[in-house]
Amino acid sequence: MIHSKLPGVGTTIFTTMSQLANEYNAINLGQGFPDFAMDEALVEGVSKAMRDGMNQYTHMFGHPLLRKNIAAKVHTLYNYELHPDEHITITPGATYGIYTALTSILQPGDEVIVLEPAYDSYIPNIVINGATPVCIRMEPPNYAIPIQAIQAALNTKTKAIIINSPHNPTGSIVQEADWLAIQEILEPFPQVHIISDEVYEHLIFDGYAHQSVLKFPELAKKSFVVFSFGKTYHCTGWKLGYCIAPSHLMKEFKKVHQFNAFCCDTPKQVALADYILQTEPYTELGKDMQKRRDYLAKGLAGLPWTPISSHGSYFQCFSVGSAMSDKLFAEKLVKEAGVASIPVSAFYNKGDDFGIIRLCFAKKVETLDAAIERLVHWSRKTS
Ligand code: PMP
Ligand code: GLN
Repeated sequence: MIHSKLPGVGTTIFTTMSQLANEYNAINLGQGFPDFAMDEALVEGVSKAMRDGMNQYTHMFGHPLLRKNIAAKVHTLYNYELHPDEHITITPGATYGIYTALTSILQPGDEVIVLEPAYDSYIPNIVINGATPVCIRMEPPNYAIPIQAIQAALNTKTKAIIINSPHNPTGSIVQEADWLAIQEILEPFPQVHIISDEVYEHLIFDGYAHQSVLKFPELAKKSFVVFSFGKTYHCTGWKLGYCIAPSHLMKEFKKVHQFNAFCCDTPKQVALADYILQTEPYTELGKDMQKRRDYLAKGLAGLPWTPISSHGSYFQCFSVGSAMSDKLFAEKLVKEAGVASIPVSAFYNKGDDFGIIRLCFAKKVETLDAAIERLVHWSRKTS
């Protein structure tokens, strides 16, 4: 008999909905992953690295050339100077980066502010470290950063706040004014760190520029910033990303990392070291995804659903105006319409239900067409 560290935790909604989608042969717009191919040049780069014998452990903190080239990219994009040996660690995915950052700083009894709806790994990552999540709601339909509520929650036990922009599941984005307001309210609490989840940095639409926390020197000094190659290069199954933090924070992060993963997949890092020097794959990404977002929204415009503005990420949420719970609605949609979604209540610690579902539009046009056809047909039949 073991005493569970996560007694309240079951299987993630992403796995649950993907399994249900398979069972009912449904089109999977639930779990966030692209269904189109990644760039063949990057696949070839990995094969070449393997053939060249790059198949052993690489440096503990990441392949040196990859770290050097990330430093150059981050400097160009966010005007942030980082030393490749001190301020960055390549991680097996962003989820691992977030977990490691939290594990590096949390002690039992600490509090971490989480803005809900929240990506589902945050709260278990806090709880497993013996700390307490303090959940604050962002309100639909805008999901603005609730500065006053955050200010009211801050106290001497607060050790971190997690900010995610572009945001999963809502597609909301943090603006410069939000970061400046956060900076101001954190001033009396110098012990508070920021975990900035920026996995969708390049998936940003409507002419907005991504506001990385790295652009704000006062905030960057206290932040762990996590990124994911999976989202940028259409290879979520690679589970590869990186974390950037100032030396004193990265030093602790590396201590946890060296006895956990130690290092990440070598051939992929070798291939990425070259590939990330190309700017087009990430500068064009937002435009491409925006087209897919608009295509799906247009196709579903006749449904009695209200779209929630999405300015970034893979996702578009819809308020479906149903009397049943969003979970039941999502289940019904899989079984009757043959389309899988994610009920947004799954992103709340207490399952708050606003009757909103999330659809992933990072899909081929054929997939979006088939999903639109099924949903329109189902909606006509049921109205
Ligand atoms: N944060 C957010 C907001 C995400 O949506 C995801 C998605 N998968 C992750 C972190 C995890 O990224 P990775 O797959 O690189 O672990
Ligand atoms: N980030 C993806 C999503 O939100 C899925 C990640 C996962 O399955 N763990 O759908």
